Amino acid sequence: MPKAGEKPGKGKYICAECGAEQELKKESQALAACACEGTEFRKKGGKRPVGAKK
Ligand SMILES: [Zn+2]
Repeated sequence: MPKAGEKPGKGKYICAECGAEQELKKESQALAACACEGTEFRKKGGKRPVGAKK
């Protein structure tokens, strides 16, 4: 599960605490802590990367 401060790559991430969405537009962009102070995120669904284990 990606956490604030990590750079999990482009895409949309959803706060595990409150469900707020955050979008990373660059590979070099790090996730910011959510306004609710949540620091864990899950990647928003859609197409799955090929070879993903989960
Ligand atoms: Zn949140």
